[in-house]
Amino acid sequence: MYRLGRGIQTALGAGPTANAPRKALFSLHAARRSQGIPAAKAAATSATANSETTKPPAPQPTPEPSQEPEPKPGAKERPPGTYMIWAMEVIGGTAALLYYLHLHTDVLKPAVDSRLSPTAYTAHKLLSVTPLTGDTSLFRFEIKRPRFDGAEPETLVDAVRAQGVWAVDVKDHLVQTYRTYTPVEYHMDEEVDELTGARTGHVDLAVKRYPRGSLSRFIHGTRVGDSVEMRGPVLSWPYREGAHGRVYMVAGGTGVAPMVQLIERVLGDPRDRTSLSLLYGSPAEEDIIMRGRLDELVEKYPGRLSVEYLVERGAGGRGVRVGVPGRSEVARLVEGFDRAKGDVVLVCGPDAMMREVCGVRPVGSAGQGPLQGVLRDLGFAPASVFKF
Ligand SMILES: Cc1cc2nc3c(=O)[nH]c(=O)nc-3n(C[C@H](O)[C@H](O)[C@H](O)COP(=O)(O)OP(=O)(O)OC[C@H]3O[C@@H](n4cnc5c(N)ncnc54)[C@H](O)[C@@H]3O)c2cc1C
Repeated sequence: MYRLGRGIQTALGAGPTANAPRKALFSLHAARRSQGIPAAKAAATSATANSETTKPPAPQPTPEPSQEPEPKPGAKERPPGTYMIWAMEVIGGTAALLYYLHLHTDVLKPAVDSRLSPTAYTAHKLLSVTPLTGDTSLFRFEIKRPRFDGAEPETLVDAVRAQGVWAVDVKDHLVQTYRTYTPVEYHMDEEVDELTGARTGHVDLAVKRYPRGSLSRFIHGTRVGDSVEMRGPVLSWPYREGAHGRVYMVAGGTGVAPMVQLIERVLGDPRDRTSLSLLYGSPAEEDIIMRGRLDELVEKYPGRLSVEYLVERGAGGRGVRVGVPGRSEVARLVEGFDRAKGDVVLVCGPDAMMREVCGVRPVGSAGQGPLQGVLRDLGFAPASVFKF
């Protein structure tokens, strides 16, 4: 088999001594036809014959004209690796062409659908981009709601959204990878399209751009009017009105997104009496995102929502203290925690913060991983803590 393999390789031009085995291959087909023996057996016979120089050579049947032609005398032999180089050139050229088409044409762009579905990716038009900080922007994507609610995917969407904090998976259609993002706003216009009965709305994602990040750079590179594929909603944390006396939240950077979603939901529901406390760390004051909205809500719902901003750099000031969501700050936040009332602590932020506060959630797993850090040291039960 080894000889057959080499014979075939060299017959295809991969070796410097291509001609002799090539003849063996031609004769193999002829022998198989004329004698009715299996190809592999014939090949083994033929290849063995070529390698055993002490025995007289077996008579070789003449190749038929309809078979692959003999290499022309004087034909140039290809050096080893030629095909590999060609393959690499083809792959490189294809990648360059795809990138060009992506940048300069609509050929590769997914057709806009804008109906969010939990079971399939649909393309949503990017309506606007609003910078929030130096590396984070608010991306507003179009959402459409079809007229028929009964069997339409929108019913599924509403069903999942009603169950708690939800997210969407955003896909890079070029390299087919996706990451999860938590909408900070979901809105459906009341207005109904007279012709189709459909309603239009939007979903807002606050996305931080990482210098070597794959999906975050893809989203930041998308232009207004272009479309991006997303799937959702995906349930991140199940929430039920009345299940918790107070929800404590520790967030860092864009980790505030699920907290903002929950705060809006709880305070927007007149029946819901849950109280909320947020400790929110940022590198500097100018990196605090959604601050205007949070401050508005604190003012509107005094006693129901408290927000403490921490910054690593700067002097602090109006509502902002210098520090990080570490041991002393977290211990202070959860002083009034009451397990009997169903209180819970939610944590979302960069790995360093997660390690300090509760331990990192294992990547690619639905599980939470062991409770560690400050919250374990303070004696919290794993069931009272949720890591996004
Ligand atoms: C449930 C959930 C909700 C999320 N919601 C949001 C959201 O609303 N907004 C948002 O911006 N992100 C959110 N994320 C994070 C998001 O899914 C991506 O992980 C993030 O955008 C980085 O993806 P990427 O492909 O750009 O980077 P990757 O290609 O995955 O990573 C490249 C490099 O970037 C750096 N990097 C990536 N992520 C981090 C990080 N978290 N901290 C520090 N360095 C990092 C690392 O150096 C890493 O090696 C959420 C994640 C989850 C699980």
